[in-house]
Amino acid sequence: MPIQSSDVLIIGASASGLMCAIEAAKRGRSVQILDHANKAGKKILMSGGGRCNFTNYEVSAENYISHNPHFCKSALSRYTQWDFIGLVSDYKIPFHERDHGQLFCDDSAKDILTMLLSECAHAGVQIQLNCDISVVEKTSAAAFKLQTSCGHYQAESLVIASGGLSIPKMGATPFGYQIAKQFGHNVWPTSAGLVPFTLQTDDKSWVSKLSGVAIDCIVSNQHASFRENILLTHRGLSGPAILQISSYWQAGESVNINLLPDLEIGELLSQARAENANTLLKNVLAKHLPKRFITALLGEPLSDSPLQSLSQKKSQAIAQQIHQWQVKPNSTEGYRTAEVTLGGVDCDELSSKSMESSKISGLYFIGEVTDVTGWLGGYNFQWAWSSGWCAGQTV
Ligand SMILES: Cc1cc2nc3c(=O)[nH]c(=O)nc-3n(C[C@H](O)[C@H](O)[C@H](O)COP(=O)(O)OP(=O)(O)OC[C@H]3O[C@@H](n4cnc5c(N)ncnc54)[C@H](O)[C@@H]3O)c2cc1C
Repeated sequence: MPIQSSDVLIIGASASGLMCAIEAAKRGRSVQILDHANKAGKKILMSGGGRCNFTNYEVSAENYISHNPHFCKSALSRYTQWDFIGLVSDYKIPFHERDHGQLFCDDSAKDILTMLLSECAHAGVQIQLNCDISVVEKTSAAAFKLQTSCGHYQAESLVIASGGLSIPKMGATPFGYQIAKQFGHNVWPTSAGLVPFTLQTDDKSWVSKLSGVAIDCIVSNQHASFRENILLTHRGLSGPAILQISSYWQAGESVNINLLPDLEIGELLSQARAENANTLLKNVLAKHLPKRFITALLGEPLSDSPLQSLSQKKSQAIAQQIHQWQVKPNSTEGYRTAEVTLGGVDCDELSSKSMESSKISGLYFIGEVTDVTGWLGGYNFQWAWSSGWCAGQTV
C-alpha cells in the first residue's frame, strides 16, 4: 500500500486541530488531518446549546485549571480572544455577548465550523474522516508513521488534537492519552469537569420533585466560588454555578450554596417580624425564593411557622440553612454529559510556546488533551484556538 506523505499529520478535525491545520498550511506546510468521526467538528456543532460560546471578552490564566497554572499564559497571549473575534468578524458571523463576557453566535455554531473548514479549504488542508488509527510510531528522527483503516501515512510532525473523554457518543476516546504514554509522557489522571452533580438519596428525593427550578446563588468550596444560577434536575443539581464548581470538586467533598447572596436572612426575619409577627416564614422567604423550594428545604412544619414562634436559635439555623446550604454530591454525571475533561498530558513536558513535546521532537499536543481545562464561558474553545494556533506556527 503506498504511503501518503505530508509535512504535518494532525489527529482530530475539531477546534484545536482545524486551527493548527489552517496556520500550518498558511505557512506553506502540507497538512493532512485524520479523524475517526464521520464529520468534522462535532463538538463545535453541539457547543453552547447549538450557538457555540466561542470565546470570552475577558480571558486570563485564572480561568483555567492545570497542574501548571502558568503554562497556558504564553499561548493565550500570542493568539488572543481578539484575534479569534477578528476572524469571526472577517466572516461576518453575527454574535452577541451574554453574562460574564461570553460570546455566542446569533444564529448557529455551524457558522464557526463552516468558517474553519473554509479556511482549511483555502489553505489546502486535506481532511480524511472515518479513519481509524491502529499504529503510531516514530521510525526515524524525522518521520512518524501511522497505520490506519485508510492506509499508511507519514509526516515529519505529528499533532495530537484528539480531545478528552467527554461525550463518548460524540467520538471522544483516550487516544491522545495513550499516544502520550506510548511516547513516555506523564498523563495526569483525568476526570469529568463542567458536569452536573448527582445527589445522595435523601436530597435527590426532594430535589428531583423540583426539577426545573433555577436560583441565582453563590456556590463555593475551599478552592473556588461562582455566582450564577443553579438548576434543580430530576437527577440532582446542574446549571452554570454547579458546572463551574464541579471542576473543583473531589469525591466525598461538600459544596456550600448561598441561596440568597444579596440578603441577610437574620435581618430580613427581624424586619418582617417587626412589621407583622404572625406572618408565616414561607411567605417572607417566598418573596425571594420559590415557595415549593422553601417548603422542601426547610420542611413543612418549619416553613409554615409564624415568625413570632421562631426562637433566636431557630432563626440562626434558618439563616445558616439558606446562606450555607451544604450539599454533599453523591457523584457527577460523568463523561456522559461532562463538557470537558480535567487532567491530561502533563504541560511540564510540553513547550508553552509551540506545544511540542520536550521528549520527542516533532510531536505536539494541543487543545483539551493537554492538562489545561477552562471554566464555562468560552474558555475551552479559546484554549483550543490559542494552543492550535501556536503549534501551527512551528509544525
Ligand atoms: C456539550 C458540550 C458543549 C460545549 N460547549 C462549549 C462552549 O460553548 N464553549 C467552550 O469554550 N467549550 C465548550 N465545550 C468544550 C469544547 O467543545 C472542547 O473543549 C473543545 O471542543 C476541545 O477541542 P479539541 O479540538 O481539543 O477536541 P475535540 O473538539 O473534542 O475534538 C477531538 C477530535 O478528535 C477526534 N478523535 C478522538 N479520538 C480519535 C481517535 N481515536 N482517532 C481519530 N480521531 C479521534 C474526534 O472525533 C474529534 O473530532 C463544550 C463541550 C461539550 C461536550
